[in-house]
Amino acid sequence: MSGAEPAGDARQSTHGSGPRHTTDSSDPSQPTPHAAVAENVRVPVKPHSGRPRIGIMGGTFDPIHHGHLVAASEVQHTFGLDEVVFVPTGRHPFKRDQKVTLPEHRYLMTVIATASNSRFSVSRVDIEREGTTYTIDTLRDLRRVYPDAEFYFITGADVLPDILRWKDSDELWTMAHFIGVTRPGHRLATTGLPPEGITLLEVPAMAISSTDCRKRVAAGAPIWYLVPDGVVQYIAKYRLYRNDMPISQEASNGASRVGKEQG
Ligand code: NAP
Repeated sequence: MSGAEPAGDARQSTHGSGPRHTTDSSDPSQPTPHAAVAENVRVPVKPHSGRPRIGIMGGTFDPIHHGHLVAASEVQHTFGLDEVVFVPTGRHPFKRDQKVTLPEHRYLMTVIATASNSRFSVSRVDIEREGTTYTIDTLRDLRRVYPDAEFYFITGADVLPDILRWKDSDELWTMAHFIGVTRPGHRLATTGLPPEGITLLEVPAMAISSTDCRKRVAAGAPIWYLVPDGVVQYIAKYRLYRNDMPISQEASNGASRVGKEQG
């Protein structure tokens, strides 16, 4: 456990030129994170409770790339997290008929990508749970593993406007603080979302996207330096994302995008 304190009063906006960060700038020993807090959101400034602070990095990770890793590192630093647990999704509730690489491949690429960071780990809770992946189930499963922890759920900011439609959305706010990682220039409509429950963090490295990595592989373009070297090699070894990928290496997501989800 790091015992690191969270940012000082970080009620900042991104008005102005360069990125703002949330650590106490009076401390020159603090590195400047390559992140910014988006406008109208604030980093919680409550004192450290002494409970472990666990980041839960939820995503499809198809494939995991350096944007995800930088984002996790920035959030870990900004919030003084003791650990960031990467949780590759199982079946996505909102995507119909979308090809997603088999969970075991996505899990193993995530393990390879995170192996060198002692604060990073990877959980199988979502890929081993039967049926559709709901974040409420992710949080409940991890609560059993970390009974005393404060949870910080980290994901792409694009996902957050949908959160009010997520299963048991009222309960989600009681279980975790939500952190939306944004790409540069991304604007988020936060209408209806509780501002005290969400923080947005701008991470320039998120200009990398999984979609672009997949397209590059399919087109025969390099993905060196967009994803960790071991992941480049894993993708080549199993011929992932190539147009000639055997059907057995892909899975189709089946659930409907329509309406609020039912448990
Ligand atoms: P997605 O729709 O595939 O991704 C949307 C955007 O967010 C993409 O730009 C994506 O970039 C980015 N993104 C996704 N995960 C990220 C992360 N951890 N860090 C930074 N950027 C990220 O989203 P998804 O991966 O399926 O879902 C994200 C998380 O939300 C998962 O944990 C999922 O289980 C959860 N979720 C829950 C519910 C529910 O409970 N009902 C519904 C939807 C999603 P890349 O493509 O480059 O990753």
